[in-house]
Amino acid sequence: MRKNFFLSTPIYYVNGDPHVGTAYTTIACDALARYKKIMGYDVYFLTGTDEHGQKVEETAKEKGYTPKEWTDVMVPRFKEMWKLLNIDYNNFIRTTEERHIKSVQKMLNIVYENGDIYLGQYEGKYCISCETFVPENQIAGDDCCPSCGKKLNLIKEESYFFRMSKYQDALLDHIDKNPDFILPRSKRNEVIQFVKQGLQDLSISRNTFTWGIPITFAPGHITYVWFDALVNYVTALGYENNPEMFDKFWNNGQTCHMVGKDILRFHAIIWPCMLFSAGVKLPSSIIAHGWWTSEGEKMSKSRGNVVDPYEEVKKYGLDPFRYYMLKEVQFGNDGDYSQKNVINRINSDLSNDLGNLLNRSLGMYYKYFDGKIVLSDTKDLIDDEIYTLWNEVVKEYQDSMDISQFSKALESIWRFIARLNKYIDESSPWILAKDSSKTSRLACVMNILINSLYKIALLVYPFMPDSAQKIWNQLGVNKNIKEEVIENLSGWDTLKEGHQLGKAEPIFPRIDAEALLKQIKAKNINPDLEIENVIDIEDFQKVKFNVVEILEVSLVEGSNKLLKFKVNLGDHIRQIVSGIAKYYPNPSELIGKKVLAVTNLKPVKLKGELSQGMFLASEDKKNGVRLIVVGNDIELDAHIS
Ligand SMILES: [Zn+2]
Repeated sequence: MRKNFFLSTPIYYVNGDPHVGTAYTTIACDALARYKKIMGYDVYFLTGTDEHGQKVEETAKEKGYTPKEWTDVMVPRFKEMWKLLNIDYNNFIRTTEERHIKSVQKMLNIVYENGDIYLGQYEGKYCISCETFVPENQIAGDDCCPSCGKKLNLIKEESYFFRMSKYQDALLDHIDKNPDFILPRSKRNEVIQFVKQGLQDLSISRNTFTWGIPITFAPGHITYVWFDALVNYVTALGYENNPEMFDKFWNNGQTCHMVGKDILRFHAIIWPCMLFSAGVKLPSSIIAHGWWTSEGEKMSKSRGNVVDPYEEVKKYGLDPFRYYMLKEVQFGNDGDYSQKNVINRINSDLSNDLGNLLNRSLGMYYKYFDGKIVLSDTKDLIDDEIYTLWNEVVKEYQDSMDISQFSKALESIWRFIARLNKYIDESSPWILAKDSSKTSRLACVMNILINSLYKIALLVYPFMPDSAQKIWNQLGVNKNIKEEVIENLSGWDTLKEGHQLGKAEPIFPRIDAEALLKQIKAKNINPDLEIENVIDIEDFQKVKFNVVEILEVSLVEGSNKLLKFKVNLGDHIRQIVSGIAKYYPNPSELIGKKVLAVTNLKPVKLKGELSQGMFLASEDKKNGVRLIVVGNDIELDAHIS
């Protein structure tokens, strides 16, 4: 019987565009979902958007949309990014869909009938940005939200409450009995400590705005956005409309929610309590990940250091980007996105280690056997090391992937890759090739390399699906790697006698680090840029610029460099002498043009002619010196600054 696996990203809030944080969660989920598929699971991978709540209503209004119109604008932006990132999800849920509204109402009604919802009065502080009630003892500084720092709003309204306090002990007991309920395990204690402080009943309805799911037993009230949003996971599996699927994936499957650490508490506390009350099984695991900084600093638009997935993919390619994000940090911890590190990873791990292994192996197979597999069983002791290491690596890989330790899983694969690169040097195929009595041994060595690459491709597939397929194609294997399972990797003679290998082409081209970093630096705003000859604005304001119209021009007598101009400033006429004769052999072309001039320079005499100002001019190699001509529609009394 096949095993079932359900995995969800959080549903993303449609208030802003998808960014590198949402990309990270979704890439991690995609890798995990693909891993489960190659482990032979039936996988259901869900993502979607969180579309209700006060903040969405307010943002929509600001932008001149109705809330629904606004969500319709935002949803394609998410879908587009998931396409870019090669996210292979099964379903995209929107909380404004009918199936979800019904599902939330079903759960609310059950919880209500259980006596776990009562009417009360909510009075307290609320963060609209986080859609969170903030208890008095957690308010930060001057009435600010402890998690986002924004000003809190006072809410005082009639509200329905969910008896969350009732489930405190059951929740602690569940966390205790299920060590993998909260992953990574390092996050468990944080949640336990929080619950032990005492769970408060939760206000789950609002009646001062309307953008939400109506509560059937409480006319005029809509559902608190988190009580609404969390239900999406079971909605998608048919909680309300498809008992068969719900049974298969939720009741009889492994179920995981991946979330950012900022929303772990909602998932590890509120959601389980809701499920306890509704009589629904709890998810198997809630997996929390950390946040990213960029070049050592918090990402912010004003700093100009926001990592844009579109740009990164364009620069490095999709698979290297996915690889970097999952390799760079131990999943659960915070990470720092650094361009230099991305380049290093690509050049060392992908291009050098894996890329070279593939290139060298294929190259030699062509050189020695015309790229056609020759089977051989001339084994050596050293081969056993490779077989043993492979078994270890596959086990480590699975152990790590099963608890979402992506970087560790990749480390295991790369340990194998490094061993194989060493194996090439140790067994020196180029020496074996010189001795015709060793052809059989040579074939054996080469087959170990080629079969190893076949196996490695499947292990890296969850991280780099396209590249994994390319490796197979270069090995002459045209099967769809997506359909393969790890179970089938046990043998060392997957490629049969006479099998024709494909051509080697670099999958991970090396990046010229110096050139690219220079390019990136030039493109970004540098807050520490050194500016030569800095002046204050007061200095600048001392200079007076004017638009002047050229009325007459002629050569200064006795000079072949100087031109003298009669210019119109609107309210008077002046004479300006300028050494540009060389660049304007036909100066009368300037008559009628409006140009820029500095008009408060101390007048000087040049070759006996008075100059009452100075033109602004540009000088470059191609054009020489040119006056700065402005459009004729600019008025002569225009203020220039
Ligand atoms: Zn907040």
